[in-house]
Amino acid sequence: MAAGDLVIASNRLPVTVTFPAGSLTLEPSSGGLVAALGGIATPFSWVGWPGCVVPAGAEREVRERLAAERLFPILLSREEETEFYGRLCNDTLWPLFHGFADRQRFSEGAWRHTVAVNERFAAEIAARSAEGAVVWVHDFHLLLVPTLLRRLRPDLAIGFFLHVPFPAADVFRRLPSRQAREQLLLGLLGADTIGFHTSDYVHRFRATCLDVLGIASQPDAIALGGRSVELSASPIGIDIARFRRTLAQPAAAELAARLERRYRGRRLVLGVDRLDYTQGVPQKLRAFERFLEREPARAETTTLLQVLVPSRLESAGYGSQRDEIEREVARINGRFGCPGGRPPVEVVDHIVPAAELVALYRRADVMAVTPLRDGMNLVALEFVLCQTAAPRSPGGAGGVLLLSELAGAAASLPGALLVNPWDCEGLADRLEEALRLDPAERRARLALLREPVERLDAPRWAEACLARLAGRASGAAQAGSVASSATRGTSPHRSSSR
Ligand code: UDP
Repeated sequence: MAAGDLVIASNRLPVTVTFPAGSLTLEPSSGGLVAALGGIATPFSWVGWPGCVVPAGAEREVRERLAAERLFPILLSREEETEFYGRLCNDTLWPLFHGFADRQRFSEGAWRHTVAVNERFAAEIAARSAEGAVVWVHDFHLLLVPTLLRRLRPDLAIGFFLHVPFPAADVFRRLPSRQAREQLLLGLLGADTIGFHTSDYVHRFRATCLDVLGIASQPDAIALGGRSVELSASPIGIDIARFRRTLAQPAAAELAARLERRYRGRRLVLGVDRLDYTQGVPQKLRAFERFLEREPARAETTTLLQVLVPSRLESAGYGSQRDEIEREVARINGRFGCPGGRPPVEVVDHIVPAAELVALYRRADVMAVTPLRDGMNLVALEFVLCQTAAPRSPGGAGGVLLLSELAGAAASLPGALLVNPWDCEGLADRLEEALRLDPAERRARLALLREPVERLDAPRWAEACLARLAGRASGAAQAGSVASSATRGTSPHRSSSR
């Protein structure tokens, strides 16, 4: 198989282009998708945005450097970056798909740029794909691409995976432009397979297609224009092997020992979130405050350590989210902290390296994953893996996963203590419960969590999704070749790439 037989497309390439001191540098990106695709055995090309506005004079060099790694950039102008990525993706689709319709800001100008950028993606993918290739398109930035690409290249097998939740039909209807509503759905329906993290999202997508387009569907397929679009719930997982390697690093053990010393005698409640209103950090803080109010002496024995990764700070609403969190933390520490002692809430406001993160996961007594809405949430899975693969003490009882029922991961993780993050009293109750669970129950819950986490291995997820798509490709090839031989009276042929 050649690299043109499999093409991946996502908004961001797996590297970010920068020009420190004027010279071109490629920095590898991390993230769930990069980890999942890193294990694919077949060579593939990747089409995406390199993460910065490339000066006109450097375009050729950027293209050449990236092409050497089979990466094909979509170079966005500053205006496209603002209108497509900043406005339509971050300020319209992100809140809408997470159910925060009140936060969305739609503009026709941003929509026009989005159509144009999706057209450029489709054209670039078409140019990079061999005859009959498999193309796998990722996430909400590129919802229009499947149909645009099918028009250019009907020979391709096109898969799509949505990494964010799909909203309820009445929420989706709150996108103000009827044309945008219809085009987004019809754009996506150009795919042969569409994957979601949960069956709930599949259900909502089907309901929305019926509501907005009047198209009825089967539980696992939508028939459209003589084609069948396969729908599936395929939750992504984490790269188990990579985490095991990180856990085995001496640095992880050293950091774990340091954490043991720092939090000796204290119960540690850990939060690891991006600075994003969907993550529910203020709600988590208020629930922790209730937990302390009920018994103020808990402030001397319990710490909430909140890692808060900066994210999209230029986008509307993120600055105010940071301010709100700072105010909450200051109030709680002011009310319950003792002068000279550890404050009950500690915030780490930068990205934490992997070895430190696994040490934190191992040390946590409770992992508080309480988003208001989240497509999947990998942090929950990472915590489970670290607790089960490298227990804090041999034979120890381990920590407890407190998980929002509004995170996609909740559908895959029996054994978590489920919470509704909007229910402040309930969240404080569950936190108390988690900290009170006896060792036998903690062990039993972790044992239940371990199997799904190991089964949802990210590279295996990618291979399984691609196998399903390749199955559709070979089915289409057979149907197409039979049809063409029937009409042209020639013998069936297979495309060279399959
Ligand atoms: N992460 C990290 N360092 C940090 C905080 C988070 O590397 O300081 C990683 C974490 O290991 C996880 C990812 O960021 O893999 C967050 O993924 P998740 O699905 O939970 O949320 P997303 O940011 O994709 O919405």
